[in-house]
Amino acid sequence: MNIILLGPPGAGKGTQARLLEENFSMKQLSTGDMLRASKNSSSEIGKTVAKVMEKGELVTDEIVIDLISEQLETNLEASGFIFDGFPRTLTQADALGTLLKSKGKSLSIVFEMKVDDEALVKRITGRFNCKVCGEVYHKENNPPKIKNICDACHAKDSFIQRADDNEKSFRTRLMAYYRDTSPLIGYYHAKQKLVPIDGLQDISIMHQSIRKIMNY
Ligand code: AMP
Repeated sequence: MNIILLGPPGAGKGTQARLLEENFSMKQLSTGDMLRASKNSSSEIGKTVAKVMEKGELVTDEIVIDLISEQLETNLEASGFIFDGFPRTLTQADALGTLLKSKGKSLSIVFEMKVDDEALVKRITGRFNCKVCGEVYHKENNPPKIKNICDACHAKDSFIQRADDNEKSFRTRLMAYYRDTSPLIGYYHAKQKLVPIDGLQDISIMHQSIRKIMNY
């Protein structure tokens, strides 16, 4: 099964993708994670990407389509893909359709994760993650069980906040979502792939709802 998690920044796409990956042999493909990895490199492209991401703008379609194409090629054994943060534009959506088709695959479901904007601001500004394993936390809704220790990998003092998880960048990201990404809701609705889901639900309840729709 190949699914897309579609939603504004902070909707919980990464958290749900990781839960699905943990429980099934599906592969999470997060363009945000791939870009964060490339921005840490000292290459010219890495520096340009870092600036764009910190402002909360979108990187070019060409860059992200190349990243996804490479990942589809190198993960042929995966039983399915969870696209997290991709596609974000109509050009990317068309490219994904073509790429999947060329591999004899197709899209199964697009989950539209719905959350209201003010809930998103709270989520984003309170969010932090473990720099060792990537586990995501929230200072109020989902703190680590033991202060300063990661629940998942037990690393100590490894918590960091993303450079774009502040209110200013968030507002730019939200604008990019409404301007460039929200047309995908109509696009996938017309293709009869869209399933709306309440993104305000508790993490584990949302996971169960997704599994039920996937028949997993
Ligand atoms: P995310 O981790 O999905 O919230 O993405 C973080 C940032 O990476 C975004 O605000 C964009 O700057 C960039 N980004 C991630 N995925 C894409 C994409 N599919 N298209 C363009 N830019 C992206």
